[in-house]
Amino acid sequence: MTKNACVLMTAVLVLAASCEGVSYKDCSVPVEKRVEDLLSRMTLEEKVGQMNQFVGLEMMEQTKIKKLTRKEMMQGDEFAYYPGYPTDTIISMIKSGLVGSFLHVQTLKEANELQKWAMESRLGIPLLFGIDAIHGNAFCPDNTVYPTNIGLASSFDTDMAYKIARQTAKEMRAMNMHWTFNPNIEVARDARWGRCGETFGEDPYLVGQMGAQTVRGYQGGLDPENKDVSVEESVIACIKHLAGGSQPVNGTNCAPAEITERTLRDVYFPPYIEGVKAGALSLMPSHNDIGGVPCHSSRWLLTDVLRDEWKFEGFVISDWKDLEKLSDAHFTAKDHKDAFCQGIEAGIDMHMHGPEWNTFVCELVREGKVSEKRIDESVRRILAAKFRLGLFENPYADAEKSMKVRLCDEHRKTALEAARESIVLLKNEGILPLDRLSRKKIMVTGINADHINMMGDWVSYQHPDNYTTIIEGLREVAPENEYVYVDQGPYPTKMTMENVRKAAIAAGKCDLNIVVAGDYMHRGMNSRMKTAGENADRSDINLPGLQHELIRQVAASGKPTVLILVSGRPLSIVWEAENIPAIVEAWEPGMYGGQAVAEVIFGDVNPSAKLAMSFPRSAGHIQTYYNHKAMHYFHPYRVAPSEPLWPFGHGLSYTAYEYSEPVLSAEEMKTGQSLMLSVDVTNTGDRAGEEVVQMYIRDNVAQVARPIKELKGFCRVALEPGETKTVTLPITEEMLSFHGLEMKSFVEEGDFTAMVGPSSADTCLKSVEFAYLK
Ligand code: BGC
Repeated sequence: MTKNACVLMTAVLVLAASCEGVSYKDCSVPVEKRVEDLLSRMTLEEKVGQMNQFVGLEMMEQTKIKKLTRKEMMQGDEFAYYPGYPTDTIISMIKSGLVGSFLHVQTLKEANELQKWAMESRLGIPLLFGIDAIHGNAFCPDNTVYPTNIGLASSFDTDMAYKIARQTAKEMRAMNMHWTFNPNIEVARDARWGRCGETFGEDPYLVGQMGAQTVRGYQGGLDPENKDVSVEESVIACIKHLAGGSQPVNGTNCAPAEITERTLRDVYFPPYIEGVKAGALSLMPSHNDIGGVPCHSSRWLLTDVLRDEWKFEGFVISDWKDLEKLSDAHFTAKDHKDAFCQGIEAGIDMHMHGPEWNTFVCELVREGKVSEKRIDESVRRILAAKFRLGLFENPYADAEKSMKVRLCDEHRKTALEAARESIVLLKNEGILPLDRLSRKKIMVTGINADHINMMGDWVSYQHPDNYTTIIEGLREVAPENEYVYVDQGPYPTKMTMENVRKAAIAAGKCDLNIVVAGDYMHRGMNSRMKTAGENADRSDINLPGLQHELIRQVAASGKPTVLILVSGRPLSIVWEAENIPAIVEAWEPGMYGGQAVAEVIFGDVNPSAKLAMSFPRSAGHIQTYYNHKAMHYFHPYRVAPSEPLWPFGHGLSYTAYEYSEPVLSAEEMKTGQSLMLSVDVTNTGDRAGEEVVQMYIRDNVAQVARPIKELKGFCRVALEPGETKTVTLPITEEMLSFHGLEMKSFVEEGDFTAMVGPSSADTCLKSVEFAYLK
């Protein structure tokens, strides 16, 4: 709505208000007052309804056809319906104002239709539509699909994270969706866990920076101070999952986490603190328990820490039936009603998802087990979000306008740029970039060479015209070359020796071979075949199926082989690292992944990304992460080396960079001060490139064991051949803080080492010391 229209509408409403005393519909009234006015008009049933969410009606219908068993319904996280609650009953609940939100509504038509029924309710409170728009609004057809978070993090480009989130918000609002369950800001240190691809990797600082910019990008116009971004093009972010879901004891999603309070506070919490500071308006707890206390019923986590310490002002949404799981799976509640009571008392504001909530929570209030005051607290937070989103003024989205925004040229261009920036060149023994003339005939094979899977988890059907697979990308980027494609099918676990042999034979007849290997993580099609992604965890991190055999046989042809990995997690590829001359980690590069990979392979793009997660040699090496404590490898492993295959921050380029010795602005830092570290970086090669300069800090001696180094600054710098630039990075007092013996964050007097270079590997870093004095 334009400002003038709003003023006009306000005048009309003020007139109406003077007759009826209405003010919550008046958009000139401050949000807090609108909330209070509306709350004062609501019945208990309506309040409890606002705290509840349902899956979309179309998804319910799709689920009914599947005839899932009770166990499948409980374990499943993709589909749901509510026995005893036919569509008509849910529609009448909406019309009676007893539903606050929907998730997984995948079309604009359905969203507008549901909204119409909500607007017909007594108070006309609009519905809030939430969806997992994790890398673009890709869970709905015909939207821009960007690289997943692990690839985005590998670009170390926080401006890109902002840009993608901004564009995603516009595409979401164009589909009448208001709330994305992203960013996932869990610190991922265990590659067995299938969800690594959704995260920004293993480093708390990088995760925090990428996460905070993502929150800002989504929410743009919801910050009243931000006049540059419109409210109608902004959505609510959801930082998730608090906490420890990324570190389950056995690598499987939902399994218990045994994490000490110090590790939580120093490693897993910092990204959430950044997310809260960036103004995140919602948060989701994780499925797991920590030390026996399920996160969904942890008052310590959801109230003492989140609200009292961090001052979080948004609302907390429970994860998919995780309140029910307090009684169905954790066995810490006697039934669902008890579970809801525990969740609300801990700090949950909204329930994902299902009708039992309405009945049981009203009963809990009437029985005096939950106070109405506590209910009001949650409803206030939810209503405030709806007002801030402008939903009372703009409850619908326009279908015609929608297709102009979604998949527009500007968004496609960003998807391509992001893919180019996210591809990591892991190894290159002089083969890459490929010479188009001498490698005329190229054999291409592998499960991820020609499949939508390349776009990652959280993608539903996308039209084939809207993405470029890797073989398509190669054909587009180097059309003069001849390609022999040997199909292996998309599913690693269904590969056959016959197809492997076909590839091995073809390999001998070509000048070069490209194997595109990795995981299968696409939920949109045959999700039972997944070897990665949500709820697809593995006990090893090898290439699944016959992929290793395929690579070995192709390489045995004696012709040079390039290995391209499409995966959301690091993989154990020890043999390949030793025997294959060129290896590229493409992660899950989104809709233009095929083009970007081809451009990197043929040298049209100079790779610049750096690993956001270390590559462990094997599952047995887990946990492998660069910011470990000194005693982590006090006794190295026998037989196999302890070091990762490639560490965090590693990534090669087609040019070379040289770093000068770093210089500090002073040798000492005193309380309240900060220092500046400067380093000259020179492009000594003959190609232009972008380098990710990384700064690490080590607390040399501390009262508790501290990491050997921690990333505390980074910057992408573009350099022409022969060019030198001075990079200056601040070192603040906060960067030196940690949780000491008394479990309080503080900075300890003493000596610190600052290190700078192109990777976290010691051999790559140059260092300088300074002292911190009080
Ligand atoms: C996942 C969440 C997701 C939710 C809704 C759950 O299974 O853990 O991350 O947002 O489903 O799709």
